[in-house]
Amino acid sequence: MDGKILLALLAVLVIAFSSGCLDLHPGDGMGDQRIGVVVSILPLAEFVEAVGGDRVEVSVMVPPGASPHTYEPKASQLRDIKSAEMYVMVGSGLEFETVWMERIVDLNHEMLVVNSSDGVEIVDHNPHVWLSLRNARVMVENIYHGLARIDPENQEYYARRMEEYQEELDRVDALIRANLSDYEKCAILVYHPAWAYFARDYGLEEIAIEEDGKKAGPKRIAEVVGEARARNITLVFASPHESTRGAEMIAEEIGGEVALVDPLAYRYLENMNTVAEAFRRGAGR
Ligand SMILES: [Zn+2]
Repeated sequence: MDGKILLALLAVLVIAFSSGCLDLHPGDGMGDQRIGVVVSILPLAEFVEAVGGDRVEVSVMVPPGASPHTYEPKASQLRDIKSAEMYVMVGSGLEFETVWMERIVDLNHEMLVVNSSDGVEIVDHNPHVWLSLRNARVMVENIYHGLARIDPENQEYYARRMEEYQEELDRVDALIRANLSDYEKCAILVYHPAWAYFARDYGLEEIAIEEDGKKAGPKRIAEVVGEARARNITLVFASPHESTRGAEMIAEEIGGEVALVDPLAYRYLENMNTVAEAFRRGAGR
């Protein structure tokens, strides 16, 4: 190859790299303009993507399969915080946030921190607020305000997408309400008290084996077993990201089975439907 041609080629490459016009995500056309958003848990990722569409790039702190009650972020995740423009926290007293939020905020003071539970009523210090479609409506609105503040030029885009997603939330809420209408005052037996808000919304009673995040002792287990037998409950609901040993023990005692329901699924709307269906099968009179 001619030396001059080689030099010319090199020059082109240098210009291409230094001007940043090499698109690492060909096809999406958004390049670096996406707003970097970090969220604590997976359901919030669906909320942010629902409102932000292809204008946001979302990453999640508590990965699939991990528990937000005990998870500790990796060093690489903390580095990601430094380039984020917005952080969406659940804001309901979830341990991951009570332990880590201060350090996360310290890493990037420019980052807008959105408390998605602003305006949501937190009942009995139970942090699982997102598992109510009504609460989700408020959470999505808080996320919208955050995005509109960072990117006011596209406020209408976010507003339209928020309204569309809220309509979906309402539609699924109405569907579940209709499906569970004959189950009012019925009880669901859960290992971990994640479904208190869900139960409240549809008039179900949540019997949780764990109380106040503590493992159940023999007295509590005997109490729960008695109640489950009296109400003909045969399903014990457990979370896929926690040990099911305790749930299996109770299921054996009552001659029933363990069923898994996921409080942290990324496909939030779809999952809420699945969970409602499972509770319908497992509800005791
Ligand atoms: Zn939980």
